[in-house]
Amino acid sequence: MSTTEVHCPCGAVTMELRGEPVMQFYCHCKDCRAVSGGAYIGLALFASEDVTTHGETDTWTLRSLARQRCAVCGTHVFAAIPAFGQHAIKSNLLPDGMFRPAFHIHCRHAVLPVADDLPHYAALPAAFGGTDEKVDW
Ligand SMILES: [Zn+2]
Ligand SMILES: [Zn+2]
Repeated sequence: MSTTEVHCPCGAVTMELRGEPVMQFYCHCKDCRAVSGGAYIGLALFASEDVTTHGETDTWTLRSLARQRCAVCGTHVFAAIPAFGQHAIKSNLLPDGMFRPAFHIHCRHAVLPVADDLPHYAALPAAFGGTDEKVDW
């Protein structure tokens, strides 16, 4: 299994990601927007056992999802999702070409619709326990 090493901009936090992402997508939810300051974020899911983290992180929770930031530079690096046994890695940390999103989620909350060829789920796809309902953009 190949290993990809990624790090925050200051280098204090590094992560070893084993294998390929389980799933990759854009999230338009209010939490991701509030935490990132952007209109949406890209995420790559890896099985938690395939992620090894080095360096000190701070935990910050807006509502329910605990997100980890580098304790030195403050960059959001990942969020563990215990219910799925997965780590959500911020796509901007991945090497060029690795982030290949398959769909958008929480599009009903979008402030900046993205008209691309990917599926645009209103909330969550069935694979995440949602309904597969889509929005009209
Ligand atoms: Zn989100
Ligand atoms: Zn850092």
